[in-house]
Order: sequence, then structure tokens, then C-alpha cells
Amino acid sequence: MTSTSPRPALVWFRDDLRLSDHPALAAAASTGRPLLCVYVLDEVSEGMRPHGGASRWWLAQSLRSLQRSLSAAGTDLVLRRGAAAAIITELAQHSSAAAVYFNDVATVPARAVVAELNDRLAALGITTHSHLGDLLAAPELIRGKDGRGPKVFTPFWKRLLALGAPPQPLAAPSQVSAAPAPASDQLDSWALQPTTPDWAGGLRDCWQPGEQGAQRALQQFLDQAIAGYASDRDRPDRDATSRLSPHLRFGEISPRQIWHAARFAAAAQPAISADVDKFLSELGWRDFCRQLLFDQPALTTQNLQTSFDRFPWRDDEAALRAWQRGLTGYPIVDAGMRELWQTGTMHNRVRMVVASFLVKHLLIDWRHGEQWFWDTLVDADPGSNPGNWQWVAGCGADAAPYFRVFNPILQGEKFDPNGDYVRRFVPELARLPAAIIHQPWTATPLELASAGVTLGKNYPAPIVDHRLGRERALAAYATVRKN
Ligand SMILES: Cc1cc2nc3c(=O)[nH]c(=O)nc-3n(C[C@H](O)[C@H](O)[C@H](O)COP(=O)(O)OP(=O)(O)OC[C@H]3O[C@@H](n4cnc5c(N)ncnc54)[C@H](O)[C@@H]3O)c2cc1C
Repeated sequence: MTSTSPRPALVWFRDDLRLSDHPALAAAASTGRPLLCVYVLDEVSEGMRPHGGASRWWLAQSLRSLQRSLSAAGTDLVLRRGAAAAIITELAQHSSAAAVYFNDVATVPARAVVAELNDRLAALGITTHSHLGDLLAAPELIRGKDGRGPKVFTPFWKRLLALGAPPQPLAAPSQVSAAPAPASDQLDSWALQPTTPDWAGGLRDCWQPGEQGAQRALQQFLDQAIAGYASDRDRPDRDATSRLSPHLRFGEISPRQIWHAARFAAAAQPAISADVDKFLSELGWRDFCRQLLFDQPALTTQNLQTSFDRFPWRDDEAALRAWQRGLTGYPIVDAGMRELWQTGTMHNRVRMVVASFLVKHLLIDWRHGEQWFWDTLVDADPGSNPGNWQWVAGCGADAAPYFRVFNPILQGEKFDPNGDYVRRFVPELARLPAAIIHQPWTATPLELASAGVTLGKNYPAPIVDHRLGRERALAAYATVRKN
């Protein structure tokens, strides 16, 4: 850089892989300085949880998409891997950056990285600018007298709504000038994508990672599925939800873009107002779980209710494996687990059913399920995943009551009444009639034979009897109440 060229502004991309409604990018671009855009894959700073396999696949696609968008806007994306505070400092110093811009990630480890960065850059006389993060509201805005957030969703949501609508989303900068870019890692060298074997075929078929894919998913949802969301969102056999969660996880779209687009749709079509309210409250659960994580950084490993610390979990490697592979003998559970494996996602209702089955029918520690989801979900989220697992297990905030043991047969019959969801993911049961598809062991030998099903051969018999599993779970949960 010559002494006359303007000092660049460094934009540090984090969980916000988009150009529109990116407050840090917008602020940096508005200075008129050339931009140095950087992404750091930081899995080494204290408390950073390395991505699971499916998320790594998503991240690779998302970064490629961001590289294309930035290049169309006139600049590059520099990729680096390692401890973010040290890397951003080094890049800012060597590029003679005037300032560093980024959006807040409201977790304790991410804030600690920023604190370290602030110290390092202050010593060099480089300013930092932190902007509104990827939540509807920063955790600090919803605190009780004890300095912590509400532990129950409804008061949390009321507090959030009382803050008023989040700010209007910002447009993407149309053209930016690029600062000379230092050397970048090659994305392929990070080996984020599976190769031997390449198990990502199902993911490629289902998803379009990146900002354009996120906007398309939102538009499609608002055009085609929002009407009826409040009642249909529990139906895994229907395309009734937004499928925005992985896009949100990587910040390819912001919650406030979703908020305003949904409110706009409701203003144009008042009949869908109740559906929009329900949809936005679901979005609120994401903020709620992040806030739980903010208050309890060990959410992934520690029971929120310590009375569960002596819970009599069972060690049962074979049952865990049957659950992971979708071979429990309960069709709705197996369909969910296979949907997860094939597509990197699972319908929310079915997530609750399979999670309940693992922790209650099988009495396997929720942490095993959380870790499996973490590795296989494209939307694996550091707050929502453990937060929901703890909720289902009964040890979390606002937890499901201990005596609620989902009946996988009734859940299947109620939410997949024709068995279409099961048929899609458990093809060996596809020819069973709807009346018995959720409990094939009750079928007559003739019904099984004409559907080509041989229990114990091409589809397992139930690995645990529902009634006995339920009673065993209630007995185990009774010990917690004694604690
Ligand atoms: C055991 C278990 C584990 C889960 N793990 C995750 C996870 O790792 N990442 C994740 O994003 N969601 C998780 N969820 C929540 C929920 O299942 C998904 O957010 C939802 O299925 C995503 O589909 P969608 O985008 O079509 O949802 P929609 O119904 O369209 O909802 C819109 C958005 O609201 C948010 N949302 C909806 N429900 C919840 C919820 N219960 N908790 C938190 N946010 C919610 C998501 O960001 C979602 O994209 C989990 C739920 C359970 C029961």
C-alpha cells in the first residue's frame, strides 16, 4: 500500500454469511474506505465448539456463495483458520486497517474472543465497531433483577415483543472498493466436505445454501405455506414450515429480515395474521435458546436442573446405534432418524418424538442424542440444539413435564395420518395400509406378507415395548422428584 492510498476497513464475517442486512458491512462500506473482508474458521479459541459433519458441508457451500457475492460486489473474501483474535489483529496490522467492523455473536466464548481482539487492536491504535448481532434482541435487553434472562419462554417472548419491532433491515452495499487482499487459504484445503465416502448427495439434493437460497426459501414459504402454518406446522407429511433454520444458523438471512417480511405479508393479507404470529414466536424460540446459552455456557454438557445430575441413565450401545440408524422398530422414529441422515434435517414434531424416545423409552442420556444431532443436522445450533434436548429430557428451562412420554404410535397416527412421511423414509414399509403402518407388529401375517414385510428380517420388531418403556421411564423420573 502506498502512503497516499486510504487505509482500509476490515470486515470480519462470522455467523453472518450474507451481504444484505449486514450492519457491520453496511457501516464499513459507508465510510467509503476500501474493504478487506475476512472469514476465520475458529475452532481453537476457548469454548468454541467445532462444527459437526453436516454443518461443515453447509459452511463450505455458504462460504463459496459469499465469495461469489462479494466478488460480484467488487471485493474478495480472505479465508483464514485459527484463533480469530490473533488472526484479525495480524491482518488489520499488515493491511494498515483504520478500523475493524463485525456483528456481535452473543455467546460467552465469542464475546471473550472479541474482548481479546479489542485489547490487541487498542494497543495498535485500531478502532473496533461491534454491531447488532444475529438475534431479534441482544440478551442484555431482556434481563431480570438477578441479571439473568427469563427461564420460561412465554415471559421471555412477552418481554421481547414489548421492545417493539426490530430495526428495519439494511440493503446490501451495491458496489464496494477492494483493499489489496493478503494471501487467503484455499477453501478446499479446509476439507470441510466429505470425500471418502461422499455422503452429502442427499444434502445437495435438498438444499441451496447461501444468501440467495435463504431469500428464496423465505419467499417460497410466505407465498405458499404460511397460510395454515399454525395448524400444519406439526405435520411432517406436509411442506408446512419455512426450512429456514440452516440459513439462520449461518446468518445467510437475519431474523429481522424474516420478521419484517412476515409482518409485511400479514399486512397485505390479514387472514394469515395468526399464522404469522405463530411463526414469529417460533423464531422467538431461537432467541430464547441463545439466551439460555448466554446464561449457561455449559448448556451442552450440564443439566440446567441439577436434580438430574444423578439420573439413572442406561448404558446401551446397541440401542443407541439402532436409534441412530433408524432401526428401532417404531416407524415414526425410524423415519425421522433416516430423514436426518439423508437430508441433514428433521421435522420439528419428529425431533421431539425421537428425542423423547431416546431419553424416555431407552433411558439414554440426552447428551448422546444432542451430540448425534450436532454431527448430522445442517442447522446444528449451539443454543437451540442443547436447549431443545434439555427441554425434551425434562432437565431444562421451561421443560416438558416429566410424565409426558410421547407415545410413538399415537404421535405417528396423529401427525402422519396416512403414513406418507413413513413411506417416504422407510420404504420397506411403503406398501402397508395407513391403519397399521405406525404399528406393523399388529398386522396379520397376510397383511405383512402382501406388503412384503418380514418383521425381524427386512424391518425390526420394536426394540422396547412401548408400555414397559413408559413405565420404566416414569420410575426413573420418580427418582429425580425424590432428589
Ligand atoms: C431435540 C431437538 C433439537 C433441535 N435442534 C435444533 C438445532 O440444532 N438448530 C435449530 O435451528 N433448531 C433446532 N430445533 C428446533 C426445530 O426443530 C427447528 O428449528 C425446526 O425444525 C427448523 O425447521 P424450520 O426452519 O422449517 O422451522 P419453522 O417452523 O419454519 O420455524 C422458523 C424458525 O424458528 C426457529 N425455531 C422453530 N422452532 C424452534 C425451537 N423449538 N427452538 C429453537 N428455534 C426454533 C428456527 O430458527 C426456525 O427456522 C430442535 C428441536 C428439537 C426438539
